[in-house]
Amino acid sequence: MNLGGASAPATYTGRFAPSPTGPLHAGSLVAALASWLDARAWNAGKHGRWLVRFEDLDRPRCVNGAVSRILRQLQACSLLPDEPPVFQSQRIALYRQAIDHLVGAGLVYPCGCSRRDIEVELARLGQTRARHGELVYPGTCRLGLRGKPALAWRFHTQAATVSHASVDWVDRRLGPQQQDVATVVGDFVVLRSDGQFAYQLAVVVDDAEQHITHVVRGEDLADNTARQLLLQAALALPTPQYLHSPLVLAANGEKLSKQNAAQALDTSRPLLALNAAAAALGLPEHAGGVADALAAWVKTWRHLYNPVL
Ligand code: GLU
Repeated sequence: MNLGGASAPATYTGRFAPSPTGPLHAGSLVAALASWLDARAWNAGKHGRWLVRFEDLDRPRCVNGAVSRILRQLQACSLLPDEPPVFQSQRIALYRQAIDHLVGAGLVYPCGCSRRDIEVELARLGQTRARHGELVYPGTCRLGLRGKPALAWRFHTQAATVSHASVDWVDRRLGPQQQDVATVVGDFVVLRSDGQFAYQLAVVVDDAEQHITHVVRGEDLADNTARQLLLQAALALPTPQYLHSPLVLAANGEKLSKQNAAQALDTSRPLLALNAAAAALGLPEHAGGVADALAAWVKTWRHLYNPVL
């Protein structure tokens, strides 16, 4: 698959990819700031491009007005994208093309199992493997639907041509990582039973089509990386470098997220919000103006993570 033309620009391109399911909270500003700093820290001041992509495929979870609110919050913090934002909901043809490619290569298969079917089969196999509340699919439909209607499409992690089901990579902050996707995650969904393209597929297609060289995002997403590397290999797409930034925890120790109703980020005093995000990234507090603070953090970031192509 050749997305976005053969010649990628020889420059750093990073992105912040919020889902418009609500306004930014303190945790999402940490991820936004980290990816912005990384782009600005590239190549000793000749800074890289920083893009914003709205991951709005899950329409029922999207909230009216969240896009403009997020853009206003970023603007208040002087985190300005270098190009107009893109929206996944407007890029469906690209995801369809990727699925067609995977079907053609025999790397995905239709699955007719309901959650109940999967539970029953796992019990029959004496397996109760579940991770993050998700069942590890036992591969029931790999050999055919046996009369069941197709519900979702799954990536075949044990197909003969998937050479790296056990994936190794180096996270720029977390260090060496390894995941055996076939056993830990199983054959994961790329096209959901409601007809929606799964996050794993869309993110891989978009990162390639937008020539993203460096993915900087919250550590809660680190666990998805191996699946994304497998999909990149299956689609013959380049693999960006990954850095997963620290999470902000709520007082009860849980990660801040829109799902657990984290408070909307107050950007009426941007330096206050940015200082809190910077602290989560291990950067020193800054007392000057926003522009000075950002410039100082770019220098520290370059020293800590030195983004290179
Ligand atoms: N849309 C995802 C989120 O808001 C981010 C995905 C990514 O950065 O890969 O958590």
